[in-house]
This record gives sequence, structure tokens and C-alpha cells, in this order.
Amino acid sequence: MKPFFLILVYLFAVTLPLILSAWVGGPPRQFHQELASGLGILAFSMILMEFILSGRFKAISNGVGMDVTMRFHQIMARTALVFAVLHPFLYQGTPTGGQRPWDPTRQLTLTTDFSALSTGIAAYLLLAGLVVMAIGRTQLDYKYEAWRLLHGIGALLIAVLLLHHTVYGGRYGSEPVMTWVWLVMTGVAAGSLLAVYVLVPLWQKARPWRVASVTQLTPKQWELTVKPEGHRGLDYQAGQFAWLNVGHSPFSMKENPFSICSAPASGAEVSFMIKELGDFTRTVGQIEAGTVAYVDGPYGNLSVDGRTEPGVALIAGGVGLAPLLGILRQMRLTGDSRKVRVIYGNRLIDQIAYREELGEQDVVYVLSEPPETWQGETGFIDAELMDRVFSEKEISEWLFVMCGPSIMMDIVEDHLIKKGTPSHRILSERFSYD
Ligand SMILES: Cc1cc2nc3c(=O)[nH]c(=O)nc-3n(C[C@H](O)[C@H](O)[C@H](O)COP(=O)(O)OP(=O)(O)OC[C@H]3O[C@@H](n4cnc5c(N)ncnc54)[C@H](O)[C@@H]3O)c2cc1C
Repeated sequence: MKPFFLILVYLFAVTLPLILSAWVGGPPRQFHQELASGLGILAFSMILMEFILSGRFKAISNGVGMDVTMRFHQIMARTALVFAVLHPFLYQGTPTGGQRPWDPTRQLTLTTDFSALSTGIAAYLLLAGLVVMAIGRTQLDYKYEAWRLLHGIGALLIAVLLLHHTVYGGRYGSEPVMTWVWLVMTGVAAGSLLAVYVLVPLWQKARPWRVASVTQLTPKQWELTVKPEGHRGLDYQAGQFAWLNVGHSPFSMKENPFSICSAPASGAEVSFMIKELGDFTRTVGQIEAGTVAYVDGPYGNLSVDGRTEPGVALIAGGVGLAPLLGILRQMRLTGDSRKVRVIYGNRLIDQIAYREELGEQDVVYVLSEPPETWQGETGFIDAELMDRVFSEKEISEWLFVMCGPSIMMDIVEDHLIKKGTPSHRILSERFSYD
């Protein structure tokens, strides 16, 4: 789906409860009270939309890209937290004490019903905890699967607590129309978890894969190939990625995202280039051919299909080669007429994977710690290197696709933008999903 359309849908969904509340609500109150309610309403609808922005919905993440989806998810969670923090304080000065007979529309008083307030307070504290945990995830050093589970359960709990708080404590949420709106929206959010953790695994169970081979590429990088068992496999574009689960139940949390490094044109088998990093990736070398696997994908929009630029620059750092290799393979297999040039950076010579296949023509190898005999480029992939490898005309006309360490991508992107390459001609993928 087009980004512009997605933004419109998001804005519509987030503001719908606010607009409806204004429409069904009673006589207006003072501005700060309406602002307090409005921020609370917005915070709740934004939190519900966070479920849909989890990255697991292809209509969204394949439209704007996984990086953008996840960045938006993070920014909106923080914005919702700010709104939620402000929400109770803005009621300052409003008389409390529960509903009075002379104030049937709760225009002048605030509820003090403890159960309605306590769910709001609990959600408030949980939300702050969830955001802090997400921001500090890498420092806190707990297992990714544990974090993912906590994040999902915490989010669901917040949604249910807020539903109670809004319907029983809110002036607008208690209106029957609004109660239904909130019930449906919370149901959709909870249903999205059901889709990701129950429906998709059920679908995967009926479409198993088997490990066809595991090959060591370099001391810490492997190629793992899976083949579909009894089905046609994956309908993907070169450069996309998938969640891979090897040897576990499809309902297990043990699945990891990996870019597909094979080309659709090479057949139904799908390959992944995997670098050792943690629990799963360190054990890839021990996986035996024939092990059952599940593949959930394809995801992402790192694709050169349908692009009309005369040339494609593929800029890879380390294992960031994976999606770009898929693109290169597809271009070579289909006899793509566009020019292509690869820059592939590593620290050491023995970290270079697929060198024979990549070849030497139109591939620039860069090492930051080269051996004495090294004839290729040295240092990092930076502005100077880009200017050595690409002419001014290429920089202004080609499509630039990159994947690698954040620092590399930031430097290259800044340089390209500075030289006038429009942002729609720079595609990138970050190997982080938080
Ligand atoms: C879109 C995308 C594409 C990727 N493509 C590749 C690739 O082609 N090759 C490659 O080697 N690596 C790739 N990665 C990184 C890869 O997913 C992690 O290295 C891998 O999941 C680590 O798992 P682990 O169990 O070995 O390590 P752990 O110690 O469990 O995790 C290390 C880190 O990896 C990330 N991670 C772990 N599990 C998950 C998960 N289920 N979902 C999301 N992130 C997770 C987290 O940031 C975590 O902190 C990609 C990541 C993303 C987001």
C-alpha cells in the first residue's frame, strides 16, 4: 500500500474516537479539562494502533518498509506515553467526588470511583515500564524471546486496563456509542496478537519446510537453505526477508528475521546468510539437513523490482550482503539490463563471503584491517570511497541500495543526500527490529 494512504488510514483510526467523543459528548467543559480528556483518548487509540504497527502486517511493513514501521512504532509509543502522563495532571482544579445528581453529564466533576481510577493508574505505570524496557532492552540484557513475550503480554494488559478505565472512568467512554467503539478497537488490537501468534502459526503448520543444506561461508557466517515440503514455497521479491523458525513448533517464539539471499528466479528453495551473534545463530552450524523449518514472509520493501533507474548500486557491510546478494543474483539470473556495482566492506579478509560467486568485475571489496598483500580498497565505506567508485552522473541517476552497520548507512546516506540524490533513490534495511 502507498505510504500516503497508510498515513491517512493511521490518522483516521487514531483520531476517530476523539472525533466521535466530541460528537456524542455532553456540554463542553473548560479547555484544560477537554484537553486532558482529549490527550487520554488519543493516548489510548495510539496504544491500540501500536499492535497493528508491530511490523508483522505485510500491508504496512511491505508498503513503507520495516525500518520506517518500527521507527514509527517507537515514536508513537513515546508520544502516547507523554500524552498519558499529561492526561491526569491537566484535570487540576476540577472538583472530584463522583457523580452528583446536579451534574448528570459530568460536566463539572470528575469521578473518584477507585476501580475506574486504579486501572488507569496501573496502565499508566505499566506503559511507562514498557517504554523504558523497550528503550533499554539491549542494556538490560535479557533474552530476546523473553522480552518479546513480556512486551506482548504487557501491551495486551495495558489495552485491557485502559478499556476499563476509559469506559468506567471517562466522561466520553461511558457513552454507549463510545463504549462500542473502544470495545471494537481493543478487540482488533487483541485480534492482531491472535493473528500473529495463532493464525499465522496454524497456516505455517500446514506449509512446512525442510532444511536442505547448511554451508559454512566464513568462520562465523553460514548459508542455510530450506526447501518447501508439499507446497509451492514463498512468493517473494529479491531483497525481502522472512522470519525463520528451525526445529521448533510453529507456535514457538523461537523465530528470527533473516534476509533472503537467494533469488526468486533460482527456484523454490530459499537461502539465508546467517552471521553468528547469539543463541540461535551460534548453533546454525549444528543444524542437520532434513530438520523441519517454518518460514513466515516475505516482509520488507528492499526491492529493485519495477525501478527504472539506469543503474543499481549495492552497498553492503558484513552480513548486510545478504539481501543485496539476493538482488544481485536475481539481476544476473534474469539478465537484467541495468548496470550494477557492488561495494562490499568487511573488517578482515576471511570475513568476505561468496567471493568466487561475486567475482571481481564491478565488485569493490573494502577491508578495514587488510593483510599486507591486500590490493583492494582499505578503510571504511565512506564519502571518499563513494566518490571514488561512483561518478557524479551515477550518483545523480542510479538507485542506491544498502544494508550494513548503522554507522555505514548513515554516512553513505548523508553523503548521497548532500550530493543531491533524492531520498526515494536510496533504499536501506537495518538488521534491527525493536
Ligand atoms: C529485517 C532483518 C533482517 C535481518 N537479516 C539478517 C541476515 O540476513 N543475516 C543475519 O545474520 N542476521 C540478520 N538479521 C539479524 C538477526 O535477526 C539476528 O542476528 C538474530 O535474530 C539473532 O538471533 P540470536 O538468537 O542468535 O541472538 P540473540 O542473542 O537472541 O539476539 C541478538 C539480537 O538479535 C535480535 N533478535 C533476536 N531474535 C530476534 C527476533 N526474533 N526478532 C527480531 N530480532 C531479533 C535482537 O536485536 C537481539 O538483541 C536481520 C534482522 C532484521 C530485523
